[in-house]
Amino acid sequence: MNDHPGAASGALVASTEAIARDIAAPHAADVDARARFPIESIDALRAAGLLSAAVPSSHGGAGAGMTELGRQCAALARGCSASGMILAMHHIQVACLARHGAGTPYFDAFLRDDLVGRQQLVASITSENGTFGDTRTSVCAVEVDGDAMTLAKDATTISYGEHADAQLVTCRRAADAASGDQVLVLFTKGQYTLAEVGQWDTLGMRGTCSPGAKFKGSGSAAQIVPGAFGDASALTMVPYSHILWSALWWGIAADALDRAARFVRGEARRKPGVVPAGAPRLARAHAQLQAMRHHWEGCARAFDEIAATPMAAQHDQLTSIGWALRMNELKMACSEKAPQLVHEALQVIGILGFRNDTPFSVGRHYRDTLSASLMISNERIAAKNASMLLVYKDD
Ligand SMILES: Cc1cc2nc3c(=O)[nH]c(=O)nc-3n(C[C@H](O)[C@H](O)[C@H](O)COP(=O)(O)OP(=O)(O)OC[C@H]3O[C@@H](n4cnc5c(N)ncnc54)[C@H](O)[C@@H]3O)c2cc1C
Repeated sequence: MNDHPGAASGALVASTEAIARDIAAPHAADVDARARFPIESIDALRAAGLLSAAVPSSHGGAGAGMTELGRQCAALARGCSASGMILAMHHIQVACLARHGAGTPYFDAFLRDDLVGRQQLVASITSENGTFGDTRTSVCAVEVDGDAMTLAKDATTISYGEHADAQLVTCRRAADAASGDQVLVLFTKGQYTLAEVGQWDTLGMRGTCSPGAKFKGSGSAAQIVPGAFGDASALTMVPYSHILWSALWWGIAADALDRAARFVRGEARRKPGVVPAGAPRLARAHAQLQAMRHHWEGCARAFDEIAATPMAAQHDQLTSIGWALRMNELKMACSEKAPQLVHEALQVIGILGFRNDTPFSVGRHYRDTLSASLMISNERIAAKNASMLLVYKDD
């Protein structure tokens, strides 16, 4: 199938495609089997300077927009889902720092020196024991004392936390702040510890290495991202998460259907003149794959258009009910479509797809895409959309 999203885009996506093919894909089965960090892919991205793709050009980065970042994450996920997810999560944190931290001396230096210069990897800690999956509330609070601050957080899930160079953490603004009055705080290596790190023995996305841990950090008050996390969440974290995740889930489904297409082509070569039994099913699945791609790319392009306007105009659009519904609908649709399309690939391939040791195996793809609907629970998102739809007038 000639539907690689990078085929028509720039150098950033082409370099990532090469890493996906030559480095991420050959290690993907081992990363999955051993639930280990995909060090080879991340080292290759770092060596190619691709970890700073989301840093604005004003700070020396590639200044890639959402569409290009989505294509990059999709390209990498075609080789290794966990690598694609790690890259997406890193870009989400970088985007939060670039869009809400830039302009202060601390974050300007972090973007330029640590992210571009040293190609550091940033992890995210939004989850917390006691908030029950709701990222917009926190139990923990940052304690500021003059120029210094400290924070302790009991996190349920931290992807690649032990492999990252920095952690971006949500918390309450102060000990007496309400649970929803949150800020983002950045901690760099040496400023924090992760204790009581749990196990990450999961059905899928095993290479993201995402166990819970008790986080403790301290640093300078300048490391608190200016403004409210509520704004950073609506303007940046939610759109980047839902669009980049959808893109990489698309990439996983596309790779599974690539395997089905190779299988069908093999059948056609074996019996010339006879349309293989699985070909019509593959054709229907491919149409759905294209619809999924148009869905996430349409949202990415819309975001890029909005992001080209002044921040005040972005605020109006990205905090509207219509945009929130659109982001949530994208997330729900793509997280549910991806495992369905891998299921279709399996039906087309049959036993060679079911086995874990053939070039047509799709078991890993299947298990990895099952995480999609849980990663911010679709039920939780549907409940939010249900209440927004009660008051939403589509004009
Ligand atoms: C691969 C992977 C990587 C992750 N990486 C990170 C990371 O790096 N950092 C981080 O902080 N977190 C991470 N997470 C955690 C993620 O952000 C969410 O916090 C987590 O997936 C939600 O967990 P939960 O199912 O317990 O939460 P909940 O949302 O509370 O869901 C629990 C159950 O309640 C149901 N439910 C919830 N709300 C409603 C509702 N309103 N109506 C009906 N049913 C409802 C859900 O369907 C589900 O069955 C990761 C998760 C995954 C899967």
